[in-house]
Amino acid sequence: MTIPGGFVISSTELDKSASFLTQPVGFSYYASNWVANAPFIFMHLACLSALFVDFSWQVGLLCVGNYFLRMFGITAGYHRYFSHRAYKTSRWFQFVLAWLGCSALQKGPLWWASHHRDHHKYSDTPADPHSPHRTSFWWSHVGWILSEEHTEFNDKNIQDFTKYPEIRFLNKFHYIPGMVLALICYLSMGFSGLVWGFFISTVLVYHCTFFINSLSHLIGRRRFMTDDESKNSLILAILTMGEGWHNNHHHYQSSANQGFYWWEIDLSYSILVVLSWFGIVWDLRKPNEKALNHKVRVPKSKKNKRELVSAG
Ligand SMILES: [Zn+2]
Ligand SMILES: [Zn+2]
Repeated sequence: MTIPGGFVISSTELDKSASFLTQPVGFSYYASNWVANAPFIFMHLACLSALFVDFSWQVGLLCVGNYFLRMFGITAGYHRYFSHRAYKTSRWFQFVLAWLGCSALQKGPLWWASHHRDHHKYSDTPADPHSPHRTSFWWSHVGWILSEEHTEFNDKNIQDFTKYPEIRFLNKFHYIPGMVLALICYLSMGFSGLVWGFFISTVLVYHCTFFINSLSHLIGRRRFMTDDESKNSLILAILTMGEGWHNNHHHYQSSANQGFYWWEIDLSYSILVVLSWFGIVWDLRKPNEKALNHKVRVPKSKKNKRELVSAG
């Protein structure tokens, strides 16, 4: 199949849900998916109610606490565990990770991890679900999620987790943990708790997570010559509990730590290390010396990708 840019992708390698959009699109492109997008838009509009509620240090703490709790669910759960299997854990803690990830309202673990595996498989090529280099900042940041093209996911990509019925259940009813969290915020601190602890906190988690798809392929430094445009950024690493070391991550995807040196702050990994002391997680994978020192790498996979794909 020929796709924009002169690439040819074999049907066996093709993820049916991958996008081949290569040009920026206008708002009207998303209009047909307005029912599915309504909750996402509502979450943003609901933040405006902060203008009408009291702010206190308690709700501020709730906002920050729920931000980091759910960011951990996304980074340590959806990303490092479900997408990359960078460490092992028990079935009950696997469920906890899925629940925490779901509470960030970024759809289910199977949907998230399947698309993320496509991102690594086709990084910054036309089949990448969210490359800013093939489309636009907007598309990579949020457009691809709002688009009808990514409503479904390729379950063949994530068969290692589709075998768990409780994970399939959470993936299908992914909004339940978020609704439970909203209820807890409201019952514990009233309407201002709901606004700050849930609406604002959720929108902050949205955009800081999305920065990794957009800014981390645009701005920052490259330590490793990977076959994509991934970058490292301290600021994004602080905001996302370690995900900002995105060039490191593209270089060694299965590593539980994305900050490779002590000065590369990676809060998710620090928490995983503490959890490993209690036997809650184990077998945390780390890059070996060879991988760490391999700073210049022949971008073979880029070549292969385009060959797999062999330019037409
Ligand atoms: Zn990336
Ligand atoms: Zn990844």
